[in-house]
Amino acid sequence: MRRTRNDSRTARPDHVMAQVEAARDEIVAFTAEMIQIPTVNPPGDCYRECAELIGRRLAEAGLELEYVEAEGRPEHTADHPRVNVVGRGANATGAGDRGSRGRTLHLNGHFDVVPPGEGWTVDPFEGLVRDGRILGRGASDMKSGIAAAVFAVEAIRRAGVELEGAVDISATVDEESGGFAGVAHLCHEGIISARDVDYVIIPEPFGPDRVCLGHRGVYWFDIVAHGHVAHGSMSHLGRSAIDDMGALLETLRTRLGPALATRRSELPVVPVPSRLPSLNVNAITGGQAGADTQSPCVADRCVATFDRRFIPEEPFEEVRAEIAALVGEVEREDPGRRFTIEDRMVVHPTSAPRGSPLVRALSRAVREVRGRDAELVASPGTYDQKHFARIAGIEHCVAYGPGPLEEAHQPDESCSVDDLVSCTQVLALAALELVGPRRR
Ligand SMILES: [Zn+2]
Repeated sequence: MRRTRNDSRTARPDHVMAQVEAARDEIVAFTAEMIQIPTVNPPGDCYRECAELIGRRLAEAGLELEYVEAEGRPEHTADHPRVNVVGRGANATGAGDRGSRGRTLHLNGHFDVVPPGEGWTVDPFEGLVRDGRILGRGASDMKSGIAAAVFAVEAIRRAGVELEGAVDISATVDEESGGFAGVAHLCHEGIISARDVDYVIIPEPFGPDRVCLGHRGVYWFDIVAHGHVAHGSMSHLGRSAIDDMGALLETLRTRLGPALATRRSELPVVPVPSRLPSLNVNAITGGQAGADTQSPCVADRCVATFDRRFIPEEPFEEVRAEIAALVGEVEREDPGRRFTIEDRMVVHPTSAPRGSPLVRALSRAVREVRGRDAELVASPGTYDQKHFARIAGIEHCVAYGPGPLEEAHQPDESCSVDDLVSCTQVLALAALELVGPRRR
């Protein structure tokens, strides 16, 4: 049966939902196929193979393909090429004619996974399906999400619905290491831009009932304590950088810690304790002694690496200035103490507007598919949303996808098949509302 475009304007969501349900086994098989390609990052294995597997599926769903390698990025090497795939959906005026009519929704997922680690009771790359769950590295974070995106589009096509706007899908690399050769590269190159993308959904694993509006900020930095080396038998002639670092750590713990505990974000971050900003000492090295050496010296250098998570209510310049001020105080307490601060990385917080049409469409679709209200949440950690927001300038970006967040990066990571099907239905209905025929 061929539907005319006029028919599609009255296409009922239940036709699309039924097409997703009918594709249940295909969705599971495609997820398992992706899991079977060990796209482990670091170092970034098998990216081309996985990009091509996804590309073949996108082409079958009627999308126009482009493979984008991260030329110019240092991590894009002959041994570990960074290969992304972008599929562009046709709109009512044809795939090549953008912007003239209709909206564009972009669905993006990363196909890199973290190393399996210890503790697995199943083969992490077998793609095993057992008791209604898909198991394996990437089952939750986030190969099931990519399958949901692909089959949301496929179900709309199989239901015979022609869209007024377009749905694009990209599958990208390196999210687990910052996304610079993945989403950031596509945004820098203008391949994804606010010029022709209105909405972005990233099917990261927040589960079928939660829409994630955005994430907190991250500031990674080193503080270096500079001491004075001396013979360990005459330590009074030196200055221990480790002792100075000890004083600084104590001040940060007793002064900054309580200050952070008084701040609380309006962003609905889950878990709730993460609504408070935090400071974590990630690593510390000092002196010369290694595991099997010892050094008869006073340590003249000690480096601590910090991970400061900040909330949108804290302007970044204040976050940095607050730390610098405390470091200055500790220096002044004891002349001779000297520290330097070296920035490693800053990720600014980002959040879609609560009133975004994207949030409305997903919430309505969750109500329809799941029979309950969607919970609006925010993520304590970051993901690729920052690049869509800050590089591409796309404000209407959220995360919604299958899989329990708690199982991401864990042994025996898994995703419920029912949740995967539900999320695919929600994505399809949201896509219909955002770019498809207007309901009458
Ligand atoms: Zn992820």
